Amino acid sequence: MIKRNYHTHMKYCHHAIGDVKDYVEAAINYGYLELGMSDHAPIPLNSMTDSEWEHNYCNENMTLDTFEVYLKDIEKCQKEYKNIKIFKSLESEYLDSFDNHYKFLRSKLDYMILGIHFYKYQGRVIDSYSEINYDTLLGYLDNAIKGMESGIFKYLAHPDLFLFNYKDKNGGNSFDERCEMVSRKIIECAIKNNVYLEINANGLKFSNNINDRNMWKYPNVNFWNIAKEYKDLKVIIGADAHDPKLLNSDWIRMVEKFAEDLGINVENKLEF
Ligand SMILES: [Zn+2]
Ligand SMILES: [Zn+2]
Repeated sequence: MIKRNYHTHMKYCHHAIGDVKDYVEAAINYGYLELGMSDHAPIPLNSMTDSEWEHNYCNENMTLDTFEVYLKDIEKCQKEYKNIKIFKSLESEYLDSFDNHYKFLRSKLDYMILGIHFYKYQGRVIDSYSEINYDTLLGYLDNAIKGMESGIFKYLAHPDLFLFNYKDKNGGNSFDERCEMVSRKIIECAIKNNVYLEINANGLKFSNNINDRNMWKYPNVNFWNIAKEYKDLKVIIGADAHDPKLLNSDWIRMVEKFAEDLGINVENKLEF
């Protein structure tokens, strides 16, 4: 089992359970050496319309006011628990005209995770789970590249999320030449900018048949089959836990085995 996890959610985002202390105690219990707290970041206000805000579940992210409380809660545990290293982080979208917002957040943290759950493309907000097709996929790629090149993010969560419900030109779900192009560009950009790509254990919760890797929403076997060709790529496993118990899950063990079987060298530590 991994001994370090840098992708952790708590009560501050309103869709996970447990506070910092609950996670730290669970992590110590499971033998972790490092724990990065990375709840969902505040979304910049005025970045979208009310209906876009609602459609993209923006209330399921912490507010700027909560951010202050969150930092204090982490600092308290950093003082109290000396047997584990605790880091301050956030998982965030990247809306590229709001750089000052992200730079402000980053200035208070040890590292930041980019998670593209939605993005702007041609004036619209696209939901990565349901609205990615042959065309809108280019916006996902653009967002991933801009985020990685911004210097704000050290870690791209579930880079393969674009395959969650991808619709090819014919309306099917094939991993087509565009998916391959996008996968390679994301991987090459990560290498160039020294950003870690994540194999996300939490993706297994979406699978109807967990024993068939080809049915996993993410990690996606087609994406990682390409990634394994790149020996300079830094890969990390993330629990993306939304409950302290999920720091010790079969999902983590299954993605560890997945990486091992594919011959992917997983970093055991995030350097930032
Ligand atoms: Zn979440
Ligand atoms: Zn997450």
